[in-house]
Amino acid sequence: MTKKQKKMLIRILVAAALMLILKFVPLPLSGVSMFLLWLIPYFIIGYDILRKAWKGILNRQVFDENFLMAVATLGALAIGLLKTGDYDEAVAVMLFYQIGELFQSYAVGKSRRNISELMDIRPDYANVEQDGQLVKVDPDEVEIGTVITVNPGEKIPLDGIVEDGESSLNTSALTGESVPRDVKPGDEVISGCINMSGLLRIRTTKVFGESTVSKVLDLVENASSRKSRSENFIARFARYYTPVVVFSAVALALLPPLVRLIIGQAPDWGDWIYRALTFLVISCPCALVISIPLSFFAGIGGAGKAGILVKGSNYLEALANTGTVVFDKTGTLTMGVFDVVDIHHSELDRETMLEYAALAESASSHPIAVSIRKAWGKPIDLSRVGKVEEIGGNGVVVEIDGRQVAAGNSRLMRHLGIEPIECHSAGTIVHMAIGNAYAGHIVISDVIKPDAADAIAALKRAGVRSTVMLTGDGPSAAAQVAEALGIDRVHSDLLPGDKVEKVEELLGAKKPGETLAFVGDGINDAPVLSRADLGIAMGAMGSDAAIEAADVVLMDDDPLKVSKAIRIARKCMGIVRENIIFALGIKLACLVLGALGIANMWLAVFADVGVMILAVLNAIRALFVRKL
Ligand code: ADP
Ligand code: MG
Repeated sequence: MTKKQKKMLIRILVAAALMLILKFVPLPLSGVSMFLLWLIPYFIIGYDILRKAWKGILNRQVFDENFLMAVATLGALAIGLLKTGDYDEAVAVMLFYQIGELFQSYAVGKSRRNISELMDIRPDYANVEQDGQLVKVDPDEVEIGTVITVNPGEKIPLDGIVEDGESSLNTSALTGESVPRDVKPGDEVISGCINMSGLLRIRTTKVFGESTVSKVLDLVENASSRKSRSENFIARFARYYTPVVVFSAVALALLPPLVRLIIGQAPDWGDWIYRALTFLVISCPCALVISIPLSFFAGIGGAGKAGILVKGSNYLEALANTGTVVFDKTGTLTMGVFDVVDIHHSELDRETMLEYAALAESASSHPIAVSIRKAWGKPIDLSRVGKVEEIGGNGVVVEIDGRQVAAGNSRLMRHLGIEPIECHSAGTIVHMAIGNAYAGHIVISDVIKPDAADAIAALKRAGVRSTVMLTGDGPSAAAQVAEALGIDRVHSDLLPGDKVEKVEELLGAKKPGETLAFVGDGINDAPVLSRADLGIAMGAMGSDAAIEAADVVLMDDDPLKVSKAIRIARKCMGIVRENIIFALGIKLACLVLGALGIANMWLAVFADVGVMILAVLNAIRALFVRKL
């Protein structure tokens, strides 16, 4: 409990004790002095509400819940003074209202803390060697290229590459994945993982602010500030609701007595004013105002726990309505790790061909490039490489030993005025041209991710109507993957710009209200990620541009997470809907009872606090995610 919450608890206890004394200890006092005595607990428990209501009036923002509470309780006191001599109701209303507020602030604080604990990835220090001694320094102060030591049991503080040591890493805080990841020298590691077994020496590749942890924390911390439509619903709702309620209350206080006067009956002012005040107390929409943002907050937290970062509550809403999922192929549905299968039609021997390919791909970060460099496996003599040009969706054109070397698809070859020899092997074909002459092609094959077929099936089960794959790869490689996975539609041979066009086409064809989600790994697809209704980026290891452009980031490369994200979002939206219906339904019933004079203020407050507590508990349910 915070200091503020403790103070409130004390106020509640003191006011409650005073109230019990005044109610049950017979005091030989007259009406007015009784009234003055009752004012003590009333002000103890309600002074801040009265002050806020007064400030609201001064700022011309009259109609809020503080105003409702202030008018209702002051009115109840007035009725007590003028008519009944009972003041307990006014104090009780304030008391229960404050108990509700306290509970709410406690619950919100608790779920916030839960989330940051779940995301307990912020490293406190990095071990840096200085003068032969390991010193703990602030990760913020470590420069790129520094070698840091991470002992078993410690968090990896910065992104980097393992120089020395082998270990397995627990990535669950980041990815929700419980299987540890083994690393050895040369492997990339991301900050936020926990080093489980061996001592690692890591050369950092990013400063702290650019490291994965910082980005993730930043995303999580800013997520709930992006509003969703349901939250705007509350703002819109309040704008009409409060004035309507206040004017209805005024009408309830004035009209029936006037009518009674006209038809010659006793007007019963006190009774009708009391009903109007009860009506006001009932009308407080606290449960709604509190539980909806909390539901979203919990939903974002629950998703975060599963390794799914949702950048705002509006994206949860979009996720829940997903009707079409468009996938990028390479790196998203496939591993993006190619094996060199064969070399065709080449005058050069395998070694020389691979060497040229590796030299040509030396500057590219495309998965094909990475795989070719790996297949070559020897150091690359960068001094032989001159001008480098990478053409997205085509390949690379590079100067090697002063000659132009091109590596890419048949489109690239034709673009250079070279006729490629078509190949009918299964796989992706990298055509090579050296010094403007065709030099043969390398057949490489990608591996479909183990969970990819399950992922597509799970989407179907989740009611996604259509799955589409877009790829810059050739039609045969594309068809092969689509068939293996059961994808509905494929479009191949697309340039990055064509992918945007295709997505726009699909956006035009979808049902209104449905979301089109694009799932990519960020190599060449940042523009598509931002163009789709919902951009989902795979893997924190993917490109930074993708993580910036995406609305949802899946921390690991597992495509199964897409359907999981949809399920989490649906659950959260379901809870939001339940809370709206529940809170408004009970409210409406109480308002009618209040207007009819059946509900008194006690019942009103109980109903309100009760509904709020139930709605908040329901909201917190969104935090818990079932394992797959
Ligand atoms: P995808 O849509 O499958 O993710 P990209 O748009 O990244 O594919 O690339 C499309 C095609 O362009 C690849 O299949 C490949 O033929 C060619 N290509 C792109 N970059 C390179 C490169 N660096 N080296 C060779 N070929 C490349
Ligand atoms: Mg790609």
